[in-house]
Amino acid sequence: MYIIQVTTELAPVAKVGGLADVVTGLSRELEIRGNTVEIVLPKYDIMRYDQIWGLSVIMPDLWVPWYNASIHCSVLYGEVHNRRCFFIDPHSDDNFFNRRTFYGTNDDFMRFAFFSKAALEFILKTNKRPDIIHCHDWQTGLVPVMLFEIYKHHGMENQRVCYTIHNFKHQGLGGVDTLFATGLNRPEYYFNYEQIRDNFNPFGINFMKAGIVYANFVTTVSPQHAWEVRNTDQGFGLQHTLEVHQGKFTGILNGIDYDVWNPEIDRFLPVKFSVNNIDAKYGNKESLRNRFWLRKDYKPIVAYVGRLDAQKGVHLIRHAIFYSLNHGAQFVLLGLSPEHSIGEMFAHLKNELNESPDCHIELGFNEELSHLIYAGADLIIVPSTYEPCGLTQMIGLKYGTVPVVRAIGGLVDTVFDKDYSDRSFDQRNGFVFHQNDPQAMDSAISRAISLWHDFPDDFRRIMIHGMRYDFSWKNPGEQYTSIYEYVRHK
Ligand code: ADP
Repeated sequence: MYIIQVTTELAPVAKVGGLADVVTGLSRELEIRGNTVEIVLPKYDIMRYDQIWGLSVIMPDLWVPWYNASIHCSVLYGEVHNRRCFFIDPHSDDNFFNRRTFYGTNDDFMRFAFFSKAALEFILKTNKRPDIIHCHDWQTGLVPVMLFEIYKHHGMENQRVCYTIHNFKHQGLGGVDTLFATGLNRPEYYFNYEQIRDNFNPFGINFMKAGIVYANFVTTVSPQHAWEVRNTDQGFGLQHTLEVHQGKFTGILNGIDYDVWNPEIDRFLPVKFSVNNIDAKYGNKESLRNRFWLRKDYKPIVAYVGRLDAQKGVHLIRHAIFYSLNHGAQFVLLGLSPEHSIGEMFAHLKNELNESPDCHIELGFNEELSHLIYAGADLIIVPSTYEPCGLTQMIGLKYGTVPVVRAIGGLVDTVFDKDYSDRSFDQRNGFVFHQNDPQAMDSAISRAISLWHDFPDDFRRIMIHGMRYDFSWKNPGEQYTSIYEYVRHK
């Protein structure tokens, strides 16, 4: 099959969150399976240009209709870790993608409506006729609308769209002008609730809703989250729309890239290890302690790696630090906060605990250090309030670092409680709590720490169960391929 990914993020050149990793990992897996994959994305000024090979203009003149005129764009081609990528570079006073930021400007909805239009125009003009156009998140929600309302009548009648939602929180709201800018026009048609009118704001068209209504198939990033967004407030107002379109909606768990996240070959680890050689893991524990000046004591290390964001349960992360220190464990945190007040809170905490020989708080983004923490820690906590999929628990499992997680989103699909899971014992790989409060988390952490101290052989068994799981892109690759096949022949 021939698949074009239309995306606003791609790891490592334009990465804000998990979306970037998914497009990279999935595209690679699809190619391994014999498909042809191309990726279309904006040419941002702040991309990691050092990670793009052979970037050059391959199409100097692409005129993209916009309102009653056209915007002149050029298209560049380059390879990102062997993936073929096309970068759209518009030349207009709007300066859509030269903003020194990926997202967060007042006209984001116009910037990405334009990108969606330009991507389709590029596909049309270059006579690319992919079997599948796979688009992602609200930014590209208008792609299937324009494809089936406009481009279909210009020779793109055989293309099918798969639409993946990585985060329901951000849905993209445009107005009448978006319709006129993109050439969709006809507000009287689109401003209907069964169409793309926002379910709550009568003056808005909702890009994500548009993607759901028009795409041939819609996915989100874990089966549990697919249930949550339909049946709880985690659908952020799209519950009814998903109910209506339930027949073409499912959840597919993200994978992780085992070329990067694998303790047997991880180049950032002082000591490599595997499920057959777990003792070597403790060489990394020693390095981690040396690096952070932690006391060498007979204690487990509990870790947190991730964004310090309300969605991640910061109140519980904070609580876990003190709970661990008071109950025979050490604690290591690596995180960065996008929000000033939360960053301040952790900076204070860092100060407060500076002298502790059992705790280290590292505020910043550090890929290399994250590898050492995953390898050196014994337990990793993920107490999220909202978690569509979550990668940290899957990485922890691969590194024999037992996850302690809240039962939400993708965490439910990947972590199975040592005592209470309905899975067989050899599939139980961590500790799970349900309520979003400190008491619930304490009971899970205390079970984990006690097992480590009192029944080390049992603890090791849980580590081994986790390391044996396969959360690579193999399974998700297969599931996406069958969705593509299904919509292609529909
Ligand atoms: P989200 O996409 O919501 O941020 P995920 O769990 O899906 O959360 O993915 C987070 C990824 O980013 C993981 O690979 C994690 O190791 C990495 N990460 C997050 N914060 C940091 C940090 N401060 N330093 C290094 N890596 C980080």
